[in-house]
Amino acid sequence: MPRRKRKRFVELSFHEKGGEVVVFPDEAEAVRLVDVLGMSQKRAAELMGVSQPTISRLLLQARRKLGIAMLESRRIRIEFDDSFIAVKRCRRCLKPVDRCGCEDGG
Ligand SMILES: [Zn+2]
Repeated sequence: MPRRKRKRFVELSFHEKGGEVVVFPDEAEAVRLVDVLGMSQKRAAELMGVSQPTISRLLLQARRKLGIAMLESRRIRIEFDDSFIAVKRCRRCLKPVDRCGCEDGG
């Protein structure tokens, strides 16, 4: 018989504020690579062309915003501007297709 789960204390004070939270593409990419795909911060930093402390900072910012969106029922909008480079990543090595050496990548 499975052990009974220990009770946990949670504060149930959700305020449905609505509106939206703006997430930047580099924050979204850091979350995708590390939290969704389970990659190390070091590897994610290599793939995004930034330092590991930068990935760490992006994750902190993004997780805070995602937490606010979750607790306050806000929409998440990813805001793109020309300071970001959209790339198609190789399915094998995850580097941008134009920088990867895989024969059958992309
Ligand atoms: Zn590749």
